Amino acid sequence: MKENVTIFDHPLILHKLSILRNKNTPSKDFRALVSEIATLMCYEATRDLPLKEVETETPVAVAKTKVKHLAGKKLAIVPILRAGLGMVEGISALVPSARIGHIGLYRDEETLKPVEYYCKLPKDIGERDVFVVDPMLATGGSAIDAVSQIKLRNPRSIKFMCIIAAPEGIEAFTKVHPDVPVYCAALDEKLNEKGYIVPGLGDAGDRIFGTK
Ligand code: URA
Repeated sequence: MKENVTIFDHPLILHKLSILRNKNTPSKDFRALVSEIATLMCYEATRDLPLKEVETETPVAVAKTKVKHLAGKKLAIVPILRAGLGMVEGISALVPSARIGHIGLYRDEETLKPVEYYCKLPKDIGERDVFVVDPMLATGGSAIDAVSQIKLRNPRSIKFMCIIAAPEGIEAFTKVHPDVPVYCAALDEKLNEKGYIVPGLGDAGDRIFGTK
């Protein structure tokens, strides 16, 4: 696998993912599972957050060393509309002070260029490490475009998190953004002729929001 791509193999993630894939899993459970998987992925994807030693008074003594605290890293979560919204709650459960931005884009059918129809990011994005999230990395088109648009606002760093990736999406994304680490819970076989990931889980947005 490519250097900057992490595919998780944690049993809890894989177990939850197997239920997520099942076509009979109802929307309510699907939503909860997307959120839980996002929490578990976030736990791993934040492993490199820097720490600093702090002095803390416990009920027993003043601890001058050994006590570690996050070194003031500012985070932002940016879901790609609309399916990315399903991952926000699970991530912010672990990093509640992270700010939440939103980005929505579509591809102009004539120019094939990305058109951003919505983008609201924290004002201090330049001081933040950003997690861009979307459950499915299929062709990679929206993730590539979203990350390109966010890069224009100069965040401190960007990571991309998805639940299932297609090899085609990983290839395309890492070609354009080799500097952006990608985290996914599973790398599937391929895309089908309709652009769905196989075996995948179907349309993540429809299953999260119960719109089908
Ligand atoms: N988006 C989805 O929701 N599912 C896929 O399989 C591909 C893209």
